[in-house]
Amino acid sequence: MSRVLVIGCGGVASVAIQKCCQVSDVFTELCIASRTKSKCDALAEKLAGKTKTIVTTAQVDADDVQQVIDLIRAYKPDLVMNIALPYQDLTIMDACLACGVNYMDTANYEPEDTDDPEWRAIYEKRCEKEGFSAYFDYSWQWAYRKKFEDAGLTALLGCGFDPGVTQAYCAYAAKHEFDQIDTIDILDCNGGDHGYAFATNFNPEINLREVSAPGSYWENGHWVEIPAMSIKREYTFDQVGDKDMYLLHHEEIESLAKTIPGVKRIRFFMTFGQSYLDHMRCLEDVGMLSTTPISFNGQEIVPIQFLKALLPDPASLGPRTKGKTNIGCIFTGTKDGKEKTYYIYNICDHQSCYQEVSSQAISYTTGVPAMCGALMMLTGKWEKPGVYTVEEFDPDPFLDALDQYGLPRSESHTPALVD
Ligand code: NDP
Repeated sequence: MSRVLVIGCGGVASVAIQKCCQVSDVFTELCIASRTKSKCDALAEKLAGKTKTIVTTAQVDADDVQQVIDLIRAYKPDLVMNIALPYQDLTIMDACLACGVNYMDTANYEPEDTDDPEWRAIYEKRCEKEGFSAYFDYSWQWAYRKKFEDAGLTALLGCGFDPGVTQAYCAYAAKHEFDQIDTIDILDCNGGDHGYAFATNFNPEINLREVSAPGSYWENGHWVEIPAMSIKREYTFDQVGDKDMYLLHHEEIESLAKTIPGVKRIRFFMTFGQSYLDHMRCLEDVGMLSTTPISFNGQEIVPIQFLKALLPDPASLGPRTKGKTNIGCIFTGTKDGKEKTYYIYNICDHQSCYQEVSSQAISYTTGVPAMCGALMMLTGKWEKPGVYTVEEFDPDPFLDALDQYGLPRSESHTPALVD
């Protein structure tokens, strides 16, 4: 019996909300609140008569802490699920602290305005100190640890697939498969085809910022940064086939480097087709990925936001996308004094997702873990005051929930390794 406030009603949130409504004995009441209320109303209408969960809607601009506080005070939720954008992480955490409510999200904080001098000064120091230059990092949200601890509240960070399930896979490997994990390769393969020459599978602004940033990996206690897309490997993915994949910086490496004791190397690879890479390079070369506002015909526009308006809405890719995703982690290490390898992954079919929740698999593989993370928090399985990433909780009930609610695991003890 719980009341949940979901902020955001885009591709990922709409999957998470539909999945919450499949577990209506836990998610008894749910309020969908977002910037554009009509999207919340449309989803509530779609769910009407199909769930026992009592669904209501609200308008909120989550950049404004006071608006979120007012909404939380009016709705009185047990948990706030932030499935808006990473830009809103801090304002929503502030509102949760002010109101004494637990918090979760699916991506770590980054600022919308990367030219803000105050943020930039801190960012540049962090680049120098840590050795990676992505705009997003955990430091902003980890800074809330004491406040959440003191308030007796739990904040769960990054509970999508990657970050999210990939960290639960690491916790599972550490708990059941290894005494010592030496290396972790996180492999994110999207074998889906939507038929467009270029489109992004989730929010274009966030997605393009992520993949156009320099790559980096963790090795022997420090970050190694490389030019974007400069390390390429080929891998044969179960049920997808041969794909080219590229080493990217990814947020879970930052927390895993701290939480998996003695790990020597952590890398993240994502598959991309040639058409995607060619378009991305061209857009970057002409300045369309810039977040710096420019003046155009007397109006100020941000190039990447203008590009977003031109690209297909990720939520519209569902009916067109065919094929499967395969996302997981390959480990090397030792157990009982012997060297071993282990691969744990999930395969998800775009069209099956579309049939179930009218969405493609990228939103599905993020929205289902968000629901399962909320389920862990609401049922008391994941509850400790402070700010935590997924691998800091018991992976077993979470992976069982994923098995049950649409993202079952597959395993191999003899995987091909990535060189
Ligand atoms: P979308 O752009 O589809 O949806 C974002 C939603 O947030 C929209 O409903 C938008 O409203 C709303 N929103 C944006 N700004 C505000 C605001 N100021 N106040 C209230 N609502 C706001 O994004 P996705 O669904 O693709 O992604 C959602 C989140 O999931 C992102 O943080 C993304 O980084 C994360 N993600 C995580 C993954 C993982 O594996 N961990 C993978 C994929 C995504 P409006 O309709 O008005 O624009």
